[in-house]
Amino acid sequence: MTTDTLLNDTLAAWDRDNLLHPTTHTSNHANGTTPGRIITGGKGVYVSDRDGNQFLDAFAALYCVNVGYGRTEVADAISEQAQKLSYFHAFAGHGNEPAIKLAKMVMDRAPDHMARVYFGLSGSDANETNVKLAWHYNILRGKPEKRKIISRWRAYHGSGLVSGSMTGLAAYHARFHLPLDGFLHTHCPHYLRRPDRDMTEAQHLDFLITELEAMIMDEGPETICAFIGEPAMGTGGLMPPPDGYWARVQEVLDRHDILLIADEVVTGFGRTGSMFGSQHYGLRPDFMTIAKGLTSAYAPLSGSIISQRVFDVLMQGSEDFGALAHGWTYSAHPLGAAAGIATLDLVDNLSLLENARDNGAYLQQALKDAVGDHPNVAEVRGVGLMVAVEFMKDPAAHEWFAPMTVGPQISEAMTRLGVIARAMPEGNIVGFAPPLSITRDEIDIVAKALRAATHEVLS
Ligand code: PMP
Repeated sequence: MTTDTLLNDTLAAWDRDNLLHPTTHTSNHANGTTPGRIITGGKGVYVSDRDGNQFLDAFAALYCVNVGYGRTEVADAISEQAQKLSYFHAFAGHGNEPAIKLAKMVMDRAPDHMARVYFGLSGSDANETNVKLAWHYNILRGKPEKRKIISRWRAYHGSGLVSGSMTGLAAYHARFHLPLDGFLHTHCPHYLRRPDRDMTEAQHLDFLITELEAMIMDEGPETICAFIGEPAMGTGGLMPPPDGYWARVQEVLDRHDILLIADEVVTGFGRTGSMFGSQHYGLRPDFMTIAKGLTSAYAPLSGSIISQRVFDVLMQGSEDFGALAHGWTYSAHPLGAAAGIATLDLVDNLSLLENARDNGAYLQQALKDAVGDHPNVAEVRGVGLMVAVEFMKDPAAHEWFAPMTVGPQISEAMTRLGVIARAMPEGNIVGFAPPLSITRDEIDIVAKALRAATHEVLS
């Protein structure tokens, strides 16, 4: 045995014996039978593990390493900031240079009616902040009973108590006492998942809007605070919205004085080909949740962007009641902010929005060419560089495979071929969301691996 093999075995044993992993089968991991790997390096769209294997990461880890791995511009920015000032808090009006500069960069890119950004650490905590601020807004307006939140099934908004309640995936609720009271879900806005097979696309859209309006009327509009949605759904299966969906949702919300929270954790900073999904689909949110692409995950940082009309009420509230009693120790952390500045500069300098648009279309076409004619492929869909292939037992008869069977098998077969694509939860959906810097040659490698894996699993 080489020293390296010994070290690998030791690390693997320490991992099994000490670390409780997120979203991992606890006993399988403790017994050493999860397919997990110890990843040690990354460059461009590739990552490598301790055994010397290389993988083309077609999911940018968790669709977050948008500028690609190994960018010295970002690493150097973090290092320089750590040496200059590693941390000071942002409470009681204290500031630090990178957080202030990054706030300016974020607000320059956000829609014009947005007024301020509050920095947190993760998408989950930014969504908790947005809900608290939405509640606070209505309390300050003398409407404390206006507090229910409407989300959608198959949404993903995090795994905290509030963010997990807004998530619409059963596994995130079961055995956790979730969702909490006052968190409601409407149908998933994806035509393939229409409740009645005979519905046309137009009837399906009417159904979604009628259902939302009926839920609001049943609960009482005076009890509904906000509607939250990913402009294009991510973890639930990379599903772009039906045409015209957001304009009609927005109209219903406006009529009932309901706030819109656009969860841009995945769609923010270029993944759809636009800076934000809200701009791509014409949403007018009161809150935007940002994370992932903000720093390309070089350091944890998230944000809650709030609209002018919410900010105006917060201003008045502070005149009446004093300081905003909401803050994390690490809010506006200078190392995350330094990573954010360098990342957003790279998004501009490398023309990553254009790349997401052009190579996103190329990726979708390449995947269609690779597997579009396979009898079990129900759909190849997406927007920008977020694309999914969904498998069904019999698409024409609308017959599904049992959840998490074929999808994970194809994803695992792809990994054996050296390409990482993600099996999305509670379905048979293989997701692709590579770094926004991916090239066409690299996309061709991904498409070839998908074709081989599909034919291996579904021969
Ligand atoms: N919102 C969306 C749309 C997400 O995709 C995620 C994470 N995948 C989150 C929120 C939660 O972010 P985090 O995991 O950083 O808490």
